Amino acid sequence: MTERLLSDIEYNYKTICENIAAAAESSGRKKEDITFLAATKTVEAEYINYAISLGLDHIGENRVQELLSKYEAYNLERTKLHMIGHLQSNKVRQIVGKVDMIESVDSIKLAKEISAQSLKREITTDVLVEVNIGGEESKSGISPEMLEDLLCEIAELPSIKVQGLMTIPPICENKQKICGYFENMRKLFIDISAKKIDNISMNVLSMGMSDDYVEAIREGATMVRIGSALFGARNYNI
Ligand SMILES: *Cc1c(COP(=O)(O)O)cnc(C)c1O
Repeated sequence: MTERLLSDIEYNYKTICENIAAAAESSGRKKEDITFLAATKTVEAEYINYAISLGLDHIGENRVQELLSKYEAYNLERTKLHMIGHLQSNKVRQIVGKVDMIESVDSIKLAKEISAQSLKREITTDVLVEVNIGGEESKSGISPEMLEDLLCEIAELPSIKVQGLMTIPPICENKQKICGYFENMRKLFIDISAKKIDNISMNVLSMGMSDDYVEAIREGATMVRIGSALFGARNYNI
């Protein structure tokens, strides 16, 4: 098991907050304009709750099973819980009503199931549409070319509300290349916003992780998802 120290988490949390504030300012925004979401996969609830006690107000899990196993233990009084990992339609009913947002919607089939399960519970579920900005065959996410059609289809569904876009760009050796992907996402985000599709909001652009969140904010991210830079390295990757 990874050894974690609360003092490391505290130091990391403060450092990340400072970096976020500086990057926000350098892109003409305020630190309040950027949401710091902690990616909590493989991290025990005790450490997650410690980060929450420091002021962290958004957490995200990757797997339904892991989310459910920790659900009762999270301190969610002032903290929002997001699903950020790939989601299968047949697992949607297990998390609708528990999560504040699903960031990984990339098909109409998945959107329809979220809509149906939300309608049943008489709630509306906020979602982001995940874009495969690098065009990688192995990755989830909708292609930029298909995005508008998917948004128009989701807009017709009840009880599901698109709030923006999310992406996980390809792993890049250099920062310049990754900035190119972030820039393409920002352009897509602005283009889609300008189309003013009924019932679709573009409030959130979720991109940037531990190694590149500063660059992502400079390129327009409004939400960054940070795991290892906060909690330390993971023993395995998901
Ligand atoms: C794990 C994960 C992150 C954070 O990754 P780090 O490199 O540890 O910061 C962000 N987004 C998603 C979807 C993830 O699965």
